[in-house]
Amino acid sequence: MSLNVLKIAALAGDGIGPEVMREAVKVLHAVEKKHGIRIQITEAPVGWAGIDAAGKALPDETLALCRQSDSILFGSVGLPDRDPTIPKEERPERAALLRLRKEFGLFANLRPVRLYQPLAHTCPLQPERQGEGIDLLVVRELTGGMYFGQPKRTESVEIEGVQSKRAIDTMVYTTPEIERIAHVAFQSAQARRKKVTSIDKANVLENGVLWREVVTNVSKHYPDVVLEHMFVDNGAMQLMLKPTQFDVMLCENMFGDILSDEAAALAGSLGMLPSASLGARNGQQTFGFYEPAGGTAPDIAGKDLANPIAQILSTALMLRYSFDLENAARGIENAVGAAIESGLRTGDIYTSKDPNARRIGTTEMGSAIAAMI
Ligand code: NAD
Repeated sequence: MSLNVLKIAALAGDGIGPEVMREAVKVLHAVEKKHGIRIQITEAPVGWAGIDAAGKALPDETLALCRQSDSILFGSVGLPDRDPTIPKEERPERAALLRLRKEFGLFANLRPVRLYQPLAHTCPLQPERQGEGIDLLVVRELTGGMYFGQPKRTESVEIEGVQSKRAIDTMVYTTPEIERIAHVAFQSAQARRKKVTSIDKANVLENGVLWREVVTNVSKHYPDVVLEHMFVDNGAMQLMLKPTQFDVMLCENMFGDILSDEAAALAGSLGMLPSASLGARNGQQTFGFYEPAGGTAPDIAGKDLANPIAQILSTALMLRYSFDLENAARGIENAVGAAIESGLRTGDIYTSKDPNARRIGTTEMGSAIAAMI
């Protein structure tokens, strides 16, 4: 790709955010040297760090930095003991995270779930169900469906002479909304094992019928990718019975919210799971927002206990999806694989039953991965 300098806004946030971000930056600098890429990383406060520095969860200067950047590398925000002390709309997750999603039109959420063989013990499924290893990608539509459809309200009603309430949510999807997320899923599958399982509820919902029709039409542009359709209830069951059958799971917003968490449980620890949220493509470039799947983990913050791998793998997704640097992305993923193969473990993925495992801290894990780039 022809970008000269990749401009990255690094927003570490709260709790373990700064610790794991430090390690991700370390790895990015190693990638820079190895692959001859020029990366400019600018850090800015967000979440409680933003409130403490500038009075807002998303300070104006942080937002301005994001607008001038090619993509955002995000840690996590929110602190359960401080959040309830301010109004809901000012709290970090709403005021920073949702605001950024809206600001950058992030419509596609990608959550890869991979269970590394040496970490099979962290998976809740029995070994025979893990097959050769679990490796799937949930592609979730992020801006439509039931979470945003109108009308959306709670109203007073009289039912058989008794005052009661009625809550209304509306599920709405349009053809273009389904088309653009379907393209993301098919293009992702092309770089993987070339299979898309589209999840819907076409046997009950009008939305499901349209979803299936549009996805089928989009699939005609991708003859090298196999498409199958699955009802969401069966999809939830199949994830537990035979997760190895999935390559890319394409879901609308609510189904994706639920299934991506179910799939995440298969990887054992939140500390292993990166995610990408993508906006519209602008010329050669896709604006992206990259973050670990977990939160600020206040129970382990500041103790060198956090697993930095989710944050480090988020940088691999950034290089792949925003900058088309597949080799550099694979380099990071391979270095993570090599660190795990060599027995290095943070507390969340450690078991004393594995004689090869050596328990280490956040900083040592980051340094080891950077050294293996
Ligand atoms: P959490 O994900 O922070 O923690 C859940 C459990 O997973 C904890 O036991 C934690 O120690 C562990 N964990 C998470 N990441 C880990 C890592 N990298 N290494 C090792 N262990 C890890 O969820 P929570 O406790 O429900 O939320 C804590 C705070 O984070 C809340 O204020 C919540 O609102 C916020 N949060 C923010 C985001 C975000 O910024 N995207 C997402 C989820 C939660």
